[in-house]
Amino acid sequence: MIDLHNIPVKQVSGVSALKQEELHAFGIFTVNDLIEYYPFRYEDYRLRSLTEVKDGDKVTIQAKIMGLPVLQRYGRKSRLTCKMVAEDWMFTATWFNRHFLKDQLTTGREIILTGKWDMRRSQLTVTESEFPDRGTVRSGSLQPVYSVGGKITQAWMRKTIGQALQQYGEMIPENLPPELLRKYGLMPRKAAILRQHQPQDSEEGQLARRRMVYEELFLFQLKLQAYRAMNHDRMDGVEHVVDNATIREFVRSLPFELTDAQKKVELEILQDMRSPYCMNRLLQGDVGSGKTVIAAIALYAAVKSGHQGAFMVPTEILAEQHMRSLTRLFEPFGITVGLLTGSVTGRKRKDLLGSLQMGLTDIVVGTHALIQEDVFFRSLSLVVTDEQHRFGVNQRSILRRKGFNPDVLTMTATPIPRTLAITAFGDMDVSTLSERPKGRKPITTYWVKHSMMDRVLGFIEREVSLGRQAYVICPLIEESDKLDVQNAIDLYVSMQQAFPNMKVGLLHGRMTAAEKDEVMRAFYENEVQLLVSTTVVEVGVDVPNATLMIVMDADRFGLSQLHQLRGRVGRGEHASYCVLIADPKSEVGQERMKVMTDTDDGFEVARRDLELRGPGDFFGTKQSGVPDFRVADMVSDYAVLEAARDDAAQMVAGEAFWTSPEYGPLRDYLRREQVFQGELID
Ligand code: ADP
Ligand code: MG
Repeated sequence: MIDLHNIPVKQVSGVSALKQEELHAFGIFTVNDLIEYYPFRYEDYRLRSLTEVKDGDKVTIQAKIMGLPVLQRYGRKSRLTCKMVAEDWMFTATWFNRHFLKDQLTTGREIILTGKWDMRRSQLTVTESEFPDRGTVRSGSLQPVYSVGGKITQAWMRKTIGQALQQYGEMIPENLPPELLRKYGLMPRKAAILRQHQPQDSEEGQLARRRMVYEELFLFQLKLQAYRAMNHDRMDGVEHVVDNATIREFVRSLPFELTDAQKKVELEILQDMRSPYCMNRLLQGDVGSGKTVIAAIALYAAVKSGHQGAFMVPTEILAEQHMRSLTRLFEPFGITVGLLTGSVTGRKRKDLLGSLQMGLTDIVVGTHALIQEDVFFRSLSLVVTDEQHRFGVNQRSILRRKGFNPDVLTMTATPIPRTLAITAFGDMDVSTLSERPKGRKPITTYWVKHSMMDRVLGFIEREVSLGRQAYVICPLIEESDKLDVQNAIDLYVSMQQAFPNMKVGLLHGRMTAAEKDEVMRAFYENEVQLLVSTTVVEVGVDVPNATLMIVMDADRFGLSQLHQLRGRVGRGEHASYCVLIADPKSEVGQERMKVMTDTDDGFEVARRDLELRGPGDFFGTKQSGVPDFRVADMVSDYAVLEAARDDAAQMVAGEAFWTSPEYGPLRDYLRREQVFQGELID
């Protein structure tokens, strides 16, 4: 049988070698990838009557040409108008820069127009038009809108996907077993895919979507549950052997006492590490709740058991910071820490890799490349990661096959409701740091208008004269890297002018790793008092003497991002402040600033953010740490997710799933996703 997963997209007629290359950028390699490239919305070209249309609506209507077209030219630009009638309505159709249409507008001819309706002036500004006597393409239908870019246009994508469906549509196989289709009355896969691309009406589109949502969530859960079923009874995780006295020795050396929450989480983790099962635990805790020291204890336990640990973080700045603080903590115990990032190269890198392989370096801090590529360990038994690097099932089974079977601890500051975390991550255990260290003063947050900038400068002056330090954050300009850097530099210059007696530092994404490192070092050591920065300091930076966080144009940030930024202060014994500078115009914008001044509890911020933005938005972003789905929405499709989890768990528990032909397509899927390799008979 033909498997669409194995047919290169070039086999679709109209896809040249060049176009094939361009499609790769969209993650489209095979015919299957192409037909599963669903539209994110539809354009409505269904015919309507002017009687039901509101002023300003975008509509498609059928009309008859009544008058002679009038063409006006303004240099290179032109404007074409013509009198029309639709039902009993007389109106004027207007085209911009379509002078070539003039000769086709003959009196009495039928035409289908799409455009914006101006009720008051009885005028339609036309964006698209077609003549029924020449056959229509769009009119009367819902047209899919795909995410496109570069050299791939919307029209080309529509045509090409349509072509692929014509060539291969008949070969789209069913992958769900009949019992599930029956249970939920789901549309067959072939029909659902066709209808996702070309729905007749929105009900049908909804039914098609419903089928694909279930399929997507079911396959996701199947992966988790199958992995779990296959590994559940495996006792081949590392059994760490480390006694409580040894752990206590390290904990006593810390400059503070652990909070009760930290103690509880520490026990949960140590218990996992000592067991022969493989740990897969999510540690969640608000910013400043003290997750890093928990990671340190776990790494210490790994090394004291005769193994090695890896600590993966998202940025070089963070890697440097953790390198410094872990070295300080571990030095008295003779534990060695190495650093591996993109800027560690040549001789240095080679030495480190050798030393890891021989087991001379106990712990390595670095970015994602750490556990891939050419890095080998003598005995890696623990990987601590940040949520940006959450290990999927795929990576974990790759690690297993590579011979490592490390315990995995994932840390996140994103407050994910517990039930959602358990269902979404399926195979993870969850620990929560529910309190912040004692003695922390709350962070006071102010929201001020730009016109108060003088007072803000006075505030900076005061904090610095008290021996404290401050951040000023300028927003990231996503569209333009260049503008972004320029913005930061301008602010840096004006701060230098405002504070001639202070040392001002500058940090942005275009600086080299060495430059960034130097600025951060100077800030840690209070050689720099005021740090002007883009959002690169957002994650994890820890300078307890900094007590003032100023965010310019704060309304341009997401609330969870603002909360992260605010979490950079309030880390020591001094009272801390966050000043948000913003003049939001909309009511929601103002409400968002108020949320920040009302509470400094991350869960509360997330909850109010959800209310203001709507769930799809919040969980649709990568930041949330919840997996991204193509069709499904984590929150509104939550009930389906739960049903899919139960179905998947039940299915993998049965003997038939692993042997019977009707589950063959699902086993193929698991194999493609590398949950297992040839190890199953089929
Ligand atoms: P986060 O959870 O945001 O990663 P960190 O681990 O960076 O937080 O901890 C924030 C700060 O609190 C650090 O300076 C850390 O040394 C300090 N800290 C951690 N635990 C405690 C504690 N039990 N008592 C006092 N300070 C602590
Ligand atoms: Mg942290």
